[in-house]
Amino acid sequence: MKRALICGITGQDGVYLAKLLLEKGYEVFGTSRDAENASFSNLRKMNILNNIKVHSASLNDFRSIIQVLKMTKPDEIYNLSGQSSVGLSFQQPVETFNSITIGTINILEAVRLLNPAIKIYNASTCECFGDTKGLPADENTPFAPRSPYAVAKAAAFWYVSNYRESYNIFACSGILFNHESKFRSDRFVTKKIINAARNIAKGLENKIELGNINIQRDWGWAPEYVEAMYLMLQNEKPADYVIATGVKHYLEDFLDIAFSYYNLNYKEYLKINNDFLRPTDIEISVGNPTKAKLELGWSAQTNIEKIIYNIINEI
Ligand code: NAP
Repeated sequence: MKRALICGITGQDGVYLAKLLLEKGYEVFGTSRDAENASFSNLRKMNILNNIKVHSASLNDFRSIIQVLKMTKPDEIYNLSGQSSVGLSFQQPVETFNSITIGTINILEAVRLLNPAIKIYNASTCECFGDTKGLPADENTPFAPRSPYAVAKAAAFWYVSNYRESYNIFACSGILFNHESKFRSDRFVTKKIINAARNIAKGLENKIELGNINIQRDWGWAPEYVEAMYLMLQNEKPADYVIATGVKHYLEDFLDIAFSYYNLNYKEYLKINNDFLRPTDIEISVGNPTKAKLELGWSAQTNIEKIIYNIINEI
């Protein structure tokens, strides 16, 4: 039986990945910064809390990683932990850097020192590419990060690449474009839109305030994206992959689809609030997942309407 350690198991991707690996017969362990006090609400909703063991570990703290690796003895580590909000990263650049970049170095060093045979998945992001002016980004597109979050993720990506080359460690970065589900935290704009549409339809709210609705994003379905993480670590050789649908939509389209589901016209409820604008933003973000299709046999199956309807029907 293979053993997997999912760092950041309480988050959106952690929960779906844990479920997938349990179904594949893995023994699954996870980390949370404070496992004694965490509510594990997503793991409870997924009904898998009793099938996994969650340990307290802070990836900033090298000692706690060493400890959790010694206790769990994983064959595979999935590093999904860290401050994951672009917006919050402008307010907490140091916490963002420490939790993402230092956290990743600590995992790589712990694996190098304890057991270099452990395979590592690193959660990278399309934010590293910055604004590609509408051109789909692939694995050869240069990074041009435009937020503290993206800078931290770009640095972590290069550490992973460097440890793979220098020490022959099986480490892969998945450069994932935005992916959504009912487990997306309420702080993200997609979930904010869906919650607002539902609350307005119920008469509980009467407006939604957003910043720039003219940005374009490549949105995918989270349960499919965790399959790509798993596939990367089953491949013969370690490599980095763009995981995306290849299709972009305006945020305004997202708004329209979600409100239309409740027979609402979003224009009657939308208030543009410049306080929500970021110091720097990305206008268009879209990926080219050809390498993932060719080498992993992975491709996105769920379009934006289905993603939004799934979330509405599941929350
Ligand atoms: P998420 O729901 O925010 O989960 C991340 C987990 O990391 C949280 O459950 C939390 O676990 C831990 N965490 C949060 N803030 C932290 C901090 N300041 N320091 C250390 N740990 C912290 O994220 P996700 O959507 O599942 O994404 C998984 C990973 O993929 C993240 O690294 C994210 O940046 C990256 N990513 C996500 C997307 C996307 O569209 N969702 C796209 C590209 C890349 P505890 O509180 O239990 O410790």
